[in-house]
Amino acid sequence: MKPLPLRVQLTVVYSLISLFTLTALSLFFYFLLDYQLERDLYDDLNERAAALHGYLRFDRGHPFLAYDAADTDEAYFIEKATRYYQIFRVSDGVLLLQSPELKAAGLFFTREEVQSFAENSVTADMKLDRLHLLLHNRVIHAADGQSYLLQVGVSQEPKETALGLLFDILLTLVPLGVLFAAATGWYMSRWLLRPVDTIGAAAGEIGISNLHRRLPVRGTGDELDRLAAVFNQVFARLEQAVQQMKEFTSNISHELRTPLTALRGEAEVALTQYRSVEEYRQVLESQLEEFDKLTLLINRMLMLARAESGEIHMARERFSLSELTLNLTEQMQPVAAWKNISLKVRAEQAIHMIGDAHWMERVILNLLDNAVKFTGEGGSITVTVTQNGCWACLKVCDNGIGIPADALPKIFDRFYRVDSSRSREVDGVGLGLSLTDWIVRQHGGRILVESAPDKGSAFQVELPCAD
Ligand code: ADP
Repeated sequence: MKPLPLRVQLTVVYSLISLFTLTALSLFFYFLLDYQLERDLYDDLNERAAALHGYLRFDRGHPFLAYDAADTDEAYFIEKATRYYQIFRVSDGVLLLQSPELKAAGLFFTREEVQSFAENSVTADMKLDRLHLLLHNRVIHAADGQSYLLQVGVSQEPKETALGLLFDILLTLVPLGVLFAAATGWYMSRWLLRPVDTIGAAAGEIGISNLHRRLPVRGTGDELDRLAAVFNQVFARLEQAVQQMKEFTSNISHELRTPLTALRGEAEVALTQYRSVEEYRQVLESQLEEFDKLTLLINRMLMLARAESGEIHMARERFSLSELTLNLTEQMQPVAAWKNISLKVRAEQAIHMIGDAHWMERVILNLLDNAVKFTGEGGSITVTVTQNGCWACLKVCDNGIGIPADALPKIFDRFYRVDSSRSREVDGVGLGLSLTDWIVRQHGGRILVESAPDKGSAFQVELPCAD
């Protein structure tokens, strides 16, 4: 089922809560009034019965009320109290006295009933055709030795009328209250959700061409502000990613154009006049170098693109970083020897890590390759693998040309190459360190670099150990 819109949901919840609260309150007040009126009736009845008992006299078995008729208060009370009353002789159940209203209502008891009332003396609830009474039973032992049953009643009608009126009022007020709550909920939710609409509208206007724009933050620090702040962080990351992509594209075009122009120039020059086979061979050999460089550039670019799009799967295997470093340094010895560079390695045994040995090989080779490339003849390179707590530390130090301080923060950027004449003389496309940094981060590590021009560089890779 399609979920209801948030505004409708809020209104429904709000209305249900109001319905529940108002109904509960109404029931509470209804039963409270019922209880209070009932108690008042009982008190009133007890009072009437006790007073009547006091005024009652018997003359040879005939009951009569002895009171001062001139006393208006007394007369009024007697009139009120005798509205519903009757007296029976308990022994034979004979009705001795009955008020006209009870007579009209047709209230009559048999001998057994009278005796049962006399025995139990409880207050009874009597529902007649046109009358609903609360009937008090009291046994009077007269001086003539007889027992009489005095029954005094009070009508339940005023109580029922009051409760009925309250019920009618509540029956109108509760639905009205719920309607009012629903309307308030509807407008309140619109008011509350307005910032969401504003955020939505602002987000809708942000596109690839205006990624610098941000969502409004009201400064209240509430949930909506936090939501807007999170979205703004996402937009900032997107902006950065798009910026990087733009730079990447322009770098690619730039990097490809230079060797292509060089290749075309060489070919044009070679074709301007007739040349010997040897001369053509030289041109082609020089072009082969450019082709190799282009292939390397394209391969690395593809690898970086695949890496960044998450296509590359990193294995998670346990391998010895010390052994891997020793093997690779061994492989690089001939290249170093060719430049008369001393390449020394010192690796602590049994430093293991979890990851992809194939990709870690690239990290070590890139660092060694750079060290050899940027170290002059007769220089020296030292490679160490040590363990510091739960971190493995691979360090490649050289005493080569070094890196200027202003270039240090940029050497991990794509296509960045330090613009020094010596750096430009050596092969490279400026993608090695960028890829190295990505691989190290994938393994949960980081690269630090220290360097000084003409003194040398030290690249330190810190990686989590397996143990
Ligand atoms: P490249 O393909 O040019 O080697 P990298 O990304 O590997 O690209 O390196 C970027 C730049 O960092 C290099 O062009 C170089 O100027 C500088 N660099 C890297 N390693 C060293 C080093 N060991 N000594 C001096 N400069 C270095």
